[in-house]
Amino acid sequence: MLKQVTLGALALGAGAALIRRLSYQAGFGGQRRHASQSEAEYREAKTRILILGAGFGGMSTALTLDKLLKRQRDTSVLVVDRDNSTLFTPLLWPVANGTASPNSVVVPIRAFQRNRNFHVLHAHIDRIDLENRVVYVAGAKPRPYDILVISLGSVTRVPDLPGFRERALLFASPADALTLRNRLIDAIERAHRATDPDERRAALTFVVGGGGDTGVEVAATIWDYLESGLLAEYPWLAGERPRVVVVGRSERLVPTSPKRVSRAVQRSLETKGIEVQVGSAILSVTDTAVYTSQGEIPAHTIFWAAGTTAPRIVQDLPVEKARNGAVLVNDYLRMREYPNVYVIGDSGWGYDAQTGDPLPPTAQAAEQQGKYIAKLIAASLDGQASKPYSPRSLGHLVLLGRHAGVAHVGPLTFTGLPAWLLWHSYYLSHIPSWRNRVHLLTGWLLAALTGRETTQLRLNAGLRE
Ligand SMILES: Cc1cc2nc3c(=O)[nH]c(=O)nc-3n(C[C@H](O)[C@H](O)[C@H](O)COP(=O)(O)OP(=O)(O)OC[C@H]3O[C@@H](n4cnc5c(N)ncnc54)[C@H](O)[C@@H]3O)c2cc1C
Repeated sequence: MLKQVTLGALALGAGAALIRRLSYQAGFGGQRRHASQSEAEYREAKTRILILGAGFGGMSTALTLDKLLKRQRDTSVLVVDRDNSTLFTPLLWPVANGTASPNSVVVPIRAFQRNRNFHVLHAHIDRIDLENRVVYVAGAKPRPYDILVISLGSVTRVPDLPGFRERALLFASPADALTLRNRLIDAIERAHRATDPDERRAALTFVVGGGGDTGVEVAATIWDYLESGLLAEYPWLAGERPRVVVVGRSERLVPTSPKRVSRAVQRSLETKGIEVQVGSAILSVTDTAVYTSQGEIPAHTIFWAAGTTAPRIVQDLPVEKARNGAVLVNDYLRMREYPNVYVIGDSGWGYDAQTGDPLPPTAQAAEQQGKYIAKLIAASLDGQASKPYSPRSLGHLVLLGRHAGVAHVGPLTFTGLPAWLLWHSYYLSHIPSWRNRVHLLTGWLLAALTGRETTQLRLNAGLRE
């Protein structure tokens, strides 16, 4: 029996290695070139298309251009990003709730490049000179362009309230997801040490600023991680219910969604025991309390998950911008002042050409916009015109903890387990890598069988004297 298993495992391993080798040989035609060759090809091309950012918008532009421009030898595409991977933000929740590792939610950019005909530059972008059509990057020569696509995303805007900036924790990266876990563990340990019941209660209270998608998902994740993971390790704290409070400025949660979605989200949170303060603003924060327009909440931990702004490099561009610093674009997602420049995803601010509604700052929208402008660019290189951009909504999914969520697809709104299942299957199928899918699925199965990850992983560098 043991022999058969060993032989089977060896055969599987050899098969996998062979497939990997064959796909490597078949797929690396473009990648075998040295960087200097690809740079020369880019510089010498008649039409140089420079894509800034390899996130949702940038990658979908590059991948669609690759399909459409296959035969155009005089066109070259270069993608620049400071990271070597694309972060799949919707899947950050499983990292925070201890059912997935950070590596499962990032896909290396070089993996997208395999078999494809675009170049990649791993560098920090310092400045965009629109007048001279050139982009300055750290530690490398400036890159000229004929067509520029800006898809540099957004950053969280942190309000300047007393005590807030130094205490509020953000949620936008794998490091933030691990920090959430670490801080929850610190809080539980503090509650465990506390002898004063008020102090213990404050240690177990978590305030989340922001009633939009990210805010409600952070609140539900905190609740989920405590209730389904962490508190099981501290049975003597079982009688202490954690307190999670979501504070949102608007009169309803997820205010950009239809009212029935807002109602379903609020119901789901309140059924768990999460408190919802709508029409409320955070005013200040101290070490022991959060003050909102509805009163004081004794708490030691606050998360901020509301409001984004364009990155500094986009805000610095000498063109017309929206209130959040994103560049105003026309119906073709072009910069109004420079028609050879497209701004997509969170860095751009445009309106649906058919309905006049503002374009949403979502991954779904960024991906669609990337495909749209790739088609538009390919058509314009062939001398053809394109229609103005009008998005097509695929629906809206919100994950609200264990076996809970809200899914709004077409005219239907699901809640509970069906929404939770839809969320997991959609994002599992959507992440563009089999390796990540296998990692995620294994992580979820392992968590269901053996429990959540509850080790604290310090994110600071090693201690030095
Ligand atoms: C926690 C969280 C959960 C979310 N969940 C969802 C969801 O469920 N569904 C949904 O549709 N949307 C979701 N979003 C929103 C979604 O992530 C964004 O709308 C989307 O990423 C925008 O795509 P983008 O291409 O504009 O930017 P991004 O995908 O952020 O890509 C920007 C790229 O630019 C690079 N970059 C930025 N500055 C520089 C620089 N100076 N030099 C070099 N490179 C640079 C970055 O490294 C990054 O790769 C979520 C966001 C967060 C934070």
